[in-house]
Amino acid sequence: MTDTSRRSSLIGRNLLAGAEPDVAGDAGHDGHPPRVGFFTDTSVCIGCKACEVACKEWNAIPEDGLDFTGMSFDNTQGLDASSWRHVAFIEQSKPLGRAEAAVDHSDVDVLALAARGSGTPVAEAAITPTSPASSPSADGQTGLRWLMASDVCKHCTHAACLDVCPTGSLFRTEFGTVVVQDDICNGCGYCVAACPYGVIDVRPQDGGAHKCTLCYDRLGAGQEPACAKACPTDSIQFGPLDELRERAAARVEELHRVGVADARLYGHDPEDGVGGDGAFFLLLDEPEVYGLPPDPVVTTRDLPSMWRHAGAAALTLLGGVAAVFAAHGGMSGRRTGRWGR
Ligand code: SF4
Ligand code: SF4
Repeated sequence: MTDTSRRSSLIGRNLLAGAEPDVAGDAGHDGHPPRVGFFTDTSVCIGCKACEVACKEWNAIPEDGLDFTGMSFDNTQGLDASSWRHVAFIEQSKPLGRAEAAVDHSDVDVLALAARGSGTPVAEAAITPTSPASSPSADGQTGLRWLMASDVCKHCTHAACLDVCPTGSLFRTEFGTVVVQDDICNGCGYCVAACPYGVIDVRPQDGGAHKCTLCYDRLGAGQEPACAKACPTDSIQFGPLDELRERAAARVEELHRVGVADARLYGHDPEDGVGGDGAFFLLLDEPEVYGLPPDPVVTTRDLPSMWRHAGAAALTLLGGVAAVFAAHGGMSGRRTGRWGR
């Protein structure tokens, strides 16, 4: 697309909200590759933290405290400038459901199936279907379940962090991802306040903002991000976003079919408040349970109308001041006419 046709395709659109089919193209990348992202299927996460470790190793991120909170096995506690992946451990008083009796898996090669990952159909993967159980179960037992979910920067379609960055340190890559250039960041922290997910943060040691780059250097070399590569269960899947969305929809359908009624997608919808996330999730409960905002909205969405209102207010003020001066000038003139000789 030429510069002129790109400019005319952008005119009249609110570029800060709504569906955005070509983020990389609109950022000026001609002939760019397909937009890529993460689909994190939390239903198969085992909480091993291989993703956290791989991320730290590959990106040479400093250690930022391994404190025992006394509340959970989650000693990372959250995303910040030195934790670009965070595996949440959520303990719930909620029975998992009861395994259906008389399902025989003795002839199943579990290692071969594991090698195929979470894309393996449930029937083929020989997962014992469970009956949904609300507490307490038939035998009077209440239960406990762990929810584990590896959180990360969402590489938003409308990334408020990028919109507010005054130095251009945050930019949209040719893969449609959002990356910080450390050497340009001045540490002002505007992006920290703007991110609707509380992801990006300033590292006190170097005063710069940091977050997941979706391993931009690895993508450039044709490799998948380190976390996806390390995940032993394929909970973190990397690929072209359109393909991941199709895979995720099929996975939710599959889980519903075997009785996991709570399975739902989060961040997959291009019509949501951030125009859809480049990193989206399959969750087994409400987003709030995982510490995710239920209905995130890009914080710069209303900037155009705010500027319009501010402009109208400034014009009204200027009009008022001009009217006062005009009236004052008229009175002076009349005064000059009467006594000015
Ligand atoms: S999640 Fe936050 S830091 Fe990541 S792209 Fe979106 S606004 Fe930026
Ligand atoms: S590597 Fe995969 S299974 Fe292990 S904690 Fe991370 S997402 Fe979960």
